[in-house]
Amino acid sequence: MNAKQEQRKAGTAKAHRVVVLGAGYAGMAAAVQLAARDKGRGAVEVTVVNAQERFTERMRLPMTATGQQLSELSITQLLDGTGARFVRGWVTAVDPAAKTVRIDDDRVLEYDTLVYGLGAVADTAAVPGAEDHAYTLSSPQEAELLAERLERLARRETGTVVVAGSGLVGIESAAEIAERYPHLTVLLLGRQEPGATMHPKAKAYLRAALDRLGVQVRAGVEVVKVLPGSVDLADGENLAADAVLWAGGMRVSPLAAAAGLDVDDHGRIVVDATLRSVSHPDVYAVGDAAAITQGYGVMHGTCQGGMPTGVHAALGIDRALRGKEPNPFRFGYYHTPVSLGRGDAVVQFTRPDDRPRRIVLTGGLAVRYKETVTASPWPTYGRMKKMPASGAFWPHGGRYSRTDRGRSAT
Ligand SMILES: Cc1cc2nc3c(=O)[nH]c(=O)nc-3n(C[C@H](O)[C@H](O)[C@H](O)COP(=O)(O)OP(=O)(O)OC[C@H]3O[C@@H](n4cnc5c(N)ncnc54)[C@H](O)[C@@H]3O)c2cc1C
Repeated sequence: MNAKQEQRKAGTAKAHRVVVLGAGYAGMAAAVQLAARDKGRGAVEVTVVNAQERFTERMRLPMTATGQQLSELSITQLLDGTGARFVRGWVTAVDPAAKTVRIDDDRVLEYDTLVYGLGAVADTAAVPGAEDHAYTLSSPQEAELLAERLERLARRETGTVVVAGSGLVGIESAAEIAERYPHLTVLLLGRQEPGATMHPKAKAYLRAALDRLGVQVRAGVEVVKVLPGSVDLADGENLAADAVLWAGGMRVSPLAAAAGLDVDDHGRIVVDATLRSVSHPDVYAVGDAAAITQGYGVMHGTCQGGMPTGVHAALGIDRALRGKEPNPFRFGYYHTPVSLGRGDAVVQFTRPDDRPRRIVLTGGLAVRYKETVTASPWPTYGRMKKMPASGAFWPHGGRYSRTDRGRSAT
């Protein structure tokens, strides 16, 4: 029994203070899992800090951008009864030496363990002009600005919307805009063909769906500048645009690097096999903000992988409080669901290293599958409140995710 456990037994231990930064898919999973495991015993005191009180369903932001109303999901209501405290605010600094977090109204929170889950936003620094002239899906507020612009364009009955970036965010956004506003011209621009990494069957289906919706796809092009009213391409061509949505990659908050935490080239916190920062082991990093190495490489940002990282961090903290070593994190991908407007979708099933399998769902079945996936996080958190173990199942990826450091720590 360690000193803390002895104090707890004697009733003299102070609760271990865990501050969770970011109540996104990963941060919420960490907070709910940890608070639920504590079961009101008072061993931990969980505080969740997030910019908004409303949970952002990031996967639905293309719907917000096209004026569709989403459900009001209240973080405080969800945390009600778990013992976790919610603090609304914008995190401005982390001081890992003092173990404090500063919030924009100058409040300072102290922690014993930090869970860093501030996610990622559209990388508008990638090309000149994107920050000033392009719309993004970085937050609901940003998506609403695009919705207002699209409404104004729709009233004119004509206009061109450029979606810069042909990855999944670009594809889903272009499809949603084209379906909602068939009179607008929607140009989807990118270096790669949409669905480039998918099985040819899925890629062909996706392309046919975009064609049916009237999305004009131009692959093999690179947007190098966003101007008021147009974009410049690398080959010198200038394309007129009444609105530009920047979907050309993501970047993380500079807070972690500024705090002196070890970060990778993308600013993500480099973690060990158990998701603890390699430079500051009392900081766990989860979701898009973490650089997590598996046997197949560094994980890329997804909700399917983000939620397990949050749960795993909570399990690690819980184990450490009980005097045990945290376990290594293992995860394998299993699908890439892509919505193509409200009435169509394609689901690519994948190997644990994210390479496409031959199995693909399309049409109505894929729409229902995608909707189930998108809607599932909130009920999952609700279930975890009562049954924490219910959130602790995900594909571990077998041999694909195994690393030497993961093996040695097992
Ligand atoms: C359009 C779109 C579609 C997607 N579709 C899929 C999909 O089908 N499947 C899938 O697996 N993934 C999908 N993703 C990716 C998925 O949404 C992300 O990987 C996921 O949101 C990452 O979770 P997270 O908790 O790390 O970050 P987030 O969910 O982004 O949460 C971060 C939270 O931190 C808050 N925050 C950030 N900075 C601060 C600050 N300084 N102070 C206070 N609060 C702050 C934010 O407001 C937010 O609430 C999609 C993403 C987009 C944009």
